[in-house]
Amino acid sequence: MALAAAAAVANPVRLFASGATNKGRPGKALGQDKMVLTFEPFEARMKHVFTIAGSSRSTTPIVLTKIAYQGYVGYGEASMPPYLGESTASAMEFLRRVDLSRFSSPFQMEEILTYVDNITTNNTAAKCAVDIALHDLCGKIMGQPWWKIWGWNNKDLPSTSVTVGLAYAPDGSIDKEEVRKKTMETLDYNLIKVKLGNTEENDKTMITTIREITDLPIVVDANQGWKEKGYALDMIEWLAQRGVEMVEQPMPKLLLDEAAWLRDRSPLPLIADEACQRLTDVRKLYGAYDGINIKLMKCTGMREAREMITLAKALNMRIMMGCMTETSVAISAAAQFADQLEWADLDGNWLIANDIFTGMKVVKGRITLEDKPGIGVEPL
Ligand code: MG
Repeated sequence: MALAAAAAVANPVRLFASGATNKGRPGKALGQDKMVLTFEPFEARMKHVFTIAGSSRSTTPIVLTKIAYQGYVGYGEASMPPYLGESTASAMEFLRRVDLSRFSSPFQMEEILTYVDNITTNNTAAKCAVDIALHDLCGKIMGQPWWKIWGWNNKDLPSTSVTVGLAYAPDGSIDKEEVRKKTMETLDYNLIKVKLGNTEENDKTMITTIREITDLPIVVDANQGWKEKGYALDMIEWLAQRGVEMVEQPMPKLLLDEAAWLRDRSPLPLIADEACQRLTDVRKLYGAYDGINIKLMKCTGMREAREMITLAKALNMRIMMGCMTETSVAISAAAQFADQLEWADLDGNWLIANDIFTGMKVVKGRITLEDKPGIGVEPL
């Protein structure tokens, strides 16, 4: 904890710099018999100003975590885009309250993560930072990656979408030149994600501008931006004719009756994102959406994400996994689930300019998973 208190400076990240750790290998230097949690703020700088319906920004606050135990080190991360209500200060405050010394083994995962979840009602990203680090630690002790521990495959994994964000000209219309530039950067991938939910003219301009350049399949995220169900249906029908294959969160998250009406008529599958935070939300969304977008930062981490997948499958709902702006730590944790996903939107590390970890690699647009233990990450 003293380390964390001393680490008030955002970057560079001393705790996580190459050479400052044993990179997860056993060694005498970190041979504690008790788990030691340390954490440090980090500011992710985005390659582009990131705009969704309602906000835009160029940096994202992150808190990196590390759990050391008997010479092994597990890495974790909390990413806190402002609209989720967590901040560096609130995450640090939460993590200061986590006392892992009360547990004798990291393999008491259920007990540990239930304790962590019960500390407060919110702080899902901070909880996730503990969850990921604990999974990484336990996987490293076992010498196996989580995709393998869970019995899943690393063959024929889905492609990740890459996002072409909204770009505005000074007059509020779409900056077509900027959209073309962003689209060109996505052409090595297999699936484009487009953020809509703006005016009808701007939404349609985004799609037609991208379509002038590429026929790649598109998934659309309206981020709750379409407020009326009839309008949402018109938009979805228009999009279906232009090679769009799925729509994420078309309408405001609380409008479940309208979502069900829309789902009955929509030619495209509709996926809940903002409406789906945690395990307890999944059943409520049954009938209103075709599937759910699971994000580790929303659902407290890998343990609950796996439970959500199990429940969604039992309800015959479709599964997507997304991310926030994240380093390769949280992205690699999410990638462990790749075999179970119909859609993957795990481009968070691709969107930032200052990743300080290496982990999951995207090759020709597809997620690839190696045999590296835990979540498969190392500090750069
Ligand atoms: Mg979304």
